[in-house]
Amino acid sequence: MNSQEIKALDSKNVAQSYGRFDVVIDHGEGSTLWSPEGKEYIDFTSGIGVSCLGYGNERWINAITEQAKKLGHISNLFYSEPYARLAATLCERTGMERVFFANAGGEANEGMIKCARKYSFDKYGKDRSTIVTLVQSFHGRTITTLAATGQEVFHNYFFPFTQGFRYAIANDIQSLKDQIGDDVCAVMIELIQGEGGVLPLDKAYVYELASICKENDILLLVDEVQTGVGRTGSLFCFRQYGIQPDVVSFAKGIAGGLPMGGLLFGAKTADVFTPGTHATTFGGNPIAAAAANTVLDIMDDEFLASVIEKGNYIRNKVMSWNMPCVTKVKGLGLMVGIAVEGVVPKEVVAKCIDKGLLALTAGKDTIRLLPPLTISKEEIDKGLAILEEVLDSIA
Ligand SMILES: *Cc1c(COP(=O)(O)O)cnc(C)c1O
Repeated sequence: MNSQEIKALDSKNVAQSYGRFDVVIDHGEGSTLWSPEGKEYIDFTSGIGVSCLGYGNERWINAITEQAKKLGHISNLFYSEPYARLAATLCERTGMERVFFANAGGEANEGMIKCARKYSFDKYGKDRSTIVTLVQSFHGRTITTLAATGQEVFHNYFFPFTQGFRYAIANDIQSLKDQIGDDVCAVMIELIQGEGGVLPLDKAYVYELASICKENDILLLVDEVQTGVGRTGSLFCFRQYGIQPDVVSFAKGIAGGLPMGGLLFGAKTADVFTPGTHATTFGGNPIAAAAANTVLDIMDDEFLASVIEKGNYIRNKVMSWNMPCVTKVKGLGLMVGIAVEGVVPKEVVAKCIDKGLLALTAGKDTIRLLPPLTISKEEIDKGLAILEEVLDSIA
């Protein structure tokens, strides 16, 4: 099928819940993608932080293929090796104690909220169930994770939302203290707010937040669905903040392009989920687990150092353009936010796509770049040349 035919079929039959760009993707290699007609795109999106190894990675393809030949799915009522091995690697490399596997970020965060409430219920009974999250956060699209998301625009249409969330202003310790009370069981944060605008939390703020949580036996829940799995240059971003959370959620990049998410539990929360209290049919699927094992094998220290290095390269390059429309370059590693003024991020991205560069937006004023972590210098240069040309032409 050509692009026109694919778009027509999709428009007629698919629920219209996405504002899609006018692009059909057929295949990829490295960090470059092609349409059915052969139009080339440099990929600065990796499917929103998912395809961390890029496209056509041999080790990833082999791991999936070999696992598919052996066993495609088995229920969580049985044991399997890829799953057990993945959990062990995650615990060993994060200092956390147990893992729960889910299939997506929103689902992982639902589990994290359930864990916090059960921890508190087991210890303190029923009325200590409120979770404080941050303004401008994003935690998912289920009814509960929408309620957890600290942006009014998401609290619409689907009433009634789940009760028991309050919102504190990010990087404002007084605002956090104002929201903390006897009814609070947990604080849930993204260390760098992704969808909200690539907004990093200050280290001193996070440190103080963590100590307030600890003193009051309030759980610290860190949503690393976007920042996790090498994206910011460490396996998980919490390492760079010098904290040890009680629960961490992950998803997006973990299986390098297959659906997988999950939770890491620390000492306090490792035994909160007991048989029958939480489950999901597909969680820890052997093919996704085999893919994730490959992702983690590839992400050694040298690989993670290259993520930092490439991220700095992009930041320095963008700053060196000295463009008045670029007010700030934000983020860590290959989670890059370019704050702009006087131009509309969505329009910049649409023009980039025309010229062969896929990029994202975040918040109101930010162009967001989440390239595959394996992206080459040539591909970075090619992509940035397009972005520079576009910003030059419309600023
Ligand atoms: C993408 C994202 C989610 C939602 O993940 P899904 O896999 O789409 O359910 C939750 N939290 C953060 C921080 C995210 O970036």
